[in-house]
Amino acid sequence: MNPQQLAASLKKVNLAWSSQHIKEHLSLAESQNFSFAKFLQNLLDDEIAHRKEKRIAERLRQSKLRVKKSIENFDFSFPEKINGKLVKSLFDLSFINDKKNVILIGPPGVGKTHIASALCYYGCLNDYKCRFITAMNLINELNASVSDNSFLSLMRRYASFEMLIIDELGYLPVDKQGADLLFQIISNRYETGSVVVTTNRPFADWGRVFNNDATLAGALIDRLAYHRIIIEIEGKSYRVN
Ligand code: ADP
Ligand code: MG
Repeated sequence: MNPQQLAASLKKVNLAWSSQHIKEHLSLAESQNFSFAKFLQNLLDDEIAHRKEKRIAERLRQSKLRVKKSIENFDFSFPEKINGKLVKSLFDLSFINDKKNVILIGPPGVGKTHIASALCYYGCLNDYKCRFITAMNLINELNASVSDNSFLSLMRRYASFEMLIIDELGYLPVDKQGADLLFQIISNRYETGSVVVTTNRPFADWGRVFNNDATLAGALIDRLAYHRIIIEIEGKSYRVN
């Protein structure tokens, strides 16, 4: 059997990885006296593992998550108040399948972004389509899309993520157009996917964040309220620790 011909055939049926590594597998099978079945199983296991690795790398790239955080590195004894059990339970990721929203509320430095980043990272590792973005960048993107008439396609794109993480809502005030567009993005995802929001403002303050539009803020809270899980964190900033 000519390994080159075999490699070409594997490539033709889109088994690119197997095609590139067939020679190693053949020599290993020969030297170890593998059965045909074992040889084939090893080759396919390798192809499947490689595809999974590629898919996860693609999920991570797509998420645009900059800083990878792990929940194992989170010191639950540091914050004065946190429901550690509830936070840990999020990492079974069932909230994504249940289309629940997660709101992390607390003052600066208590680990909201850390937990949200870790959720995004774990989501990607588990093959969920995720996107991590700050509220300001999202609003800038939305405003720009109105100018170049791409808002509808952007809205569809944002609806396609299984987990959309909006970081730092409330740090900076949002203008009228930005608030309206953000509302549309979140409304459009209603009951179709999860939204994770981190904010330093309690809901009562959201009117002020959204251009003093209490009605819009109320409607937004209402959309996020569907099956929402609230994680309140209180304490000192870890940054000045
Ligand atoms: P927030 O988003 O609430 O302002 P961050 O998540 O950005 O805070 O946390 C600030 C820094 O401190 C980050 O580098 C984060 O990893 C770290 N940090 C915060 N809380 C903890 C904690 N309880 N255990 C470990 N690291 C923490
Ligand atoms: Mg933060």
